Amino acid sequence: MSNMVIYPSVHLLPVPSVTLPTFYTTNSYLVGKSEVTLIDPGSSKEESIETTLSYLKGLSGARLTKIIITHRHPDHIQGASAMKDATGAEIGIYESDARFLANQPGAPPIDLTLKDGDIIDLDSLKLEVIHTPGHASGHICLYLPDEQILFSGDLIVGIGTVIISPPDGDMKAYLDSLKRLGDYDIKAICPGHGPLITDAPAKIQEYIDHRLMRERRVIESLEGGEKTVRELVKEIYTDVDPQLHSLAERSVTAHLIKLETEGKVSRHPKKKGDEYFSLILDS
Ligand SMILES: [Zn+2]
Repeated sequence: MSNMVIYPSVHLLPVPSVTLPTFYTTNSYLVGKSEVTLIDPGSSKEESIETTLSYLKGLSGARLTKIIITHRHPDHIQGASAMKDATGAEIGIYESDARFLANQPGAPPIDLTLKDGDIIDLDSLKLEVIHTPGHASGHICLYLPDEQILFSGDLIVGIGTVIISPPDGDMKAYLDSLKRLGDYDIKAICPGHGPLITDAPAKIQEYIDHRLMRERRVIESLEGGEKTVRELVKEIYTDVDPQLHSLAERSVTAHLIKLETEGKVSRHPKKKGDEYFSLILDS
């Protein structure tokens, strides 16, 4: 993929990043006509910053006024400071991430503390902030109602699925965030990584179904007796490269925490390390 206009006021600029396995780039987006917002700069490499700046220069009459970050993970936030220094644009992020970053050395200065439902004005266009925790507690999506486009960050990606890693990752919150998207008319999804998604409602449903399928598999596996997270992964993730099993352990842990919260599973710490999980049977 190279830099290009993908919708009348949306430009895609993939930048190299150290990111989720199977991806090597983060999608940066420029949104707007005269007042422009940059979503997820994603790379602090000088080359990437230069490329974005020269692309901006090529958009006649365009001025970068805002840099909005979907969540604080490095592959999304990197480059924000450099872009701000070069353009004077304000940096915006969800309020809890802004609080977190305030104590982090080297974090970019945050000018805009965003909340669910906030509207970011870009001359003739508007972007709505949707708080979508799950992959990260401070994760937001941005919705462009004029073109019915959702910028999904790492809630939904172009290929495969995302990692839900507790404690900041939360499977129940993640499923709730996906379900909430049903309230929006979405024509296309511009993800944080991978290709554009043009069958948005089908993709959202596929994401929900996939997680519920994994959850059912966790329950089925526990019906056979108590198990550790590692044993569950071995049994359930037969379709996934074993090199990714340590990441799968994070997701299984997230499923178990959700089931624990719902009173369906309990954990038993055992001597010599491993924790075992078992089903709580209805009496
Ligand atoms: Zn990412």
